[in-house]
Amino acid sequence: MTIFSMIIKGDIPCYKIAEDDRFFAFLDINPVNWGHTLVVPKHETDYIFDLSDEEIGEMMKFAKRVTVAIKDAIPCRKVGMAVLGLEVPHAHIHLIPLSKEGDMDFKNKIADPDPERMQQVALAIASKFK
Ligand code: 5GP
Repeated sequence: MTIFSMIIKGDIPCYKIAEDDRFFAFLDINPVNWGHTLVVPKHETDYIFDLSDEEIGEMMKFAKRVTVAIKDAIPCRKVGMAVLGLEVPHAHIHLIPLSKEGDMDFKNKIADPDPERMQQVALAIASKFK
């Protein structure tokens, strides 16, 4: 079982944003910017582009709803999207609030993010999710 499946099951804690019957969104534990969110399918697949057309389409629709919530909760110009998948073998999309290009630099993560601020950010985004 992947670490993300353990998070979805509730065996490992996370800063949860939202879920439906098929997808789950939570803050990245090592954010590149405040509000950096991961969207994952509950169905375990390593490589995102191995998902069926139907599943990747539904995942994008769910991710879009999360971007709207991020944009409403976090001051930013836009929400950027990235797929890496080099570390965790469970398909996921990174959603990152952007004010400038450097806000999406994966080599430049926030050092030791304050848990209280992470919780506040998660609650703020979750409260905007529709
Ligand atoms: P990738 O697989 O896209 O290269 O990177 C995986 C991402 O998942 C990283 O940005 C990393 O910080 C995040 N991540 C890894 N383990 C955990 C975890 O246990 N909890 C959370 N919330 N994020 C994680």
